[in-house]
Amino acid sequence: MPAAPSKLAYVPFVSVDNMMRLIHRVGIEEMLKGIATYIEDDFRRWELFDKTPRVASHSDEGVIELMPTSDGEVYGFKYVNGHPKNTREGLQTVTAFGLLADVSNGYPVLLSEMTLLTALRTAATSALVAKYLAPKGADTMALIGNGAQSEFQALAMRAICGVTKLRLYDVDPAATAKAMSNLEGLGFDLTACKSAQDAMEGAQIVTTCTADKQYATILTDNMVGAGIHINAIGGDCPGKTELHKDILLRSDVFVEYPPQTRIEGEIQQMPEDFPVTEMWQVITGAVPGRRDSAQITLFDGVGFATEDFSALRFVRDQLEGTGLYQQLDMLADPDDPRDLFGMLQRAGS
Ligand code: NAD
Repeated sequence: MPAAPSKLAYVPFVSVDNMMRLIHRVGIEEMLKGIATYIEDDFRRWELFDKTPRVASHSDEGVIELMPTSDGEVYGFKYVNGHPKNTREGLQTVTAFGLLADVSNGYPVLLSEMTLLTALRTAATSALVAKYLAPKGADTMALIGNGAQSEFQALAMRAICGVTKLRLYDVDPAATAKAMSNLEGLGFDLTACKSAQDAMEGAQIVTTCTADKQYATILTDNMVGAGIHINAIGGDCPGKTELHKDILLRSDVFVEYPPQTRIEGEIQQMPEDFPVTEMWQVITGAVPGRRDSAQITLFDGVGFATEDFSALRFVRDQLEGTGLYQQLDMLADPDDPRDLFGMLQRAGS
């Protein structure tokens, strides 16, 4: 029999089941706040990170993407898909998993489900950005697109920004009914709306999280009043946008990583040199965020690798002592590192 593998050969794996247990144990709003803090810390360390637009493989039906980054000590990547047609077949639009590895030896140190974690980190990012850009005292949000991401967006906006009133709209009334039912009893003031325009009534923040693999126009220019903060997260791949371009012309646009957002974000509709502000510079205080109460701020959020890295770091730091992971036998790790073949032979004897 082969000798028992050393500790390094096992990789902690967080399953969907264990991720759900962890979220309940920490508390979802605490978890959103914790992830937002890690994302904020990593934005402050922005210049340290290896950065590249995500590596996307497009098909007629959707996209499969790899999102790698490293801070020099830890390497991370996420595998994620985006298939808007999936829900019609009983499948999710977005599923994901991710990994952290030790840069010093290349060994993985964490493998995790990231479908739930992506919803958490996307919501945490939206709310973190809104903390810097939304009008002071904003308490009402229009939530357009009431699918898988929507409730997470609502909870993060409350936990981090104090949003308590939600105006929900989806082209599919069943999606709005689902979100209303999930959010009922969580202390929000909820209104189901008949149109996107109706949802915008009295809102200081609007989140668009719709899924459609085409240039859609969820918001038109006439619907957007002065002073609003737009959190546009649904347009996140080439050919897929949510806002009319006239809105971009009236807004100050904030992005994560311009080389990626210019390919995937709302600004793909604009010329290459369309001015944008990078969020890490707002967070470090190098440039201003919201300057006045009439300004329209637009977060053109596409989701960047450092946010997944931050979320994985947060999960790794919560795991100790919880038992909420399995040890995966994922690395060969022979006794003699050069005798891989010998290890295989001994296993067959
Ligand atoms: P989902 O399919 O579960 O929900 C999308 C909802 O949008 C559906 O209920 C659909 O009926 C609705 N919708 C479609 N067109 C609409 C329209 N014109 N007006 C109103 N509602 C409309 O998808 P999801 O997982 O909630 O993701 C939503 C979007 O967010 C997707 O495009 C996804 O790719 C994107 N996303 C972005 C990030 C990011 O970091 N920016 C992260 C995760 C997901």
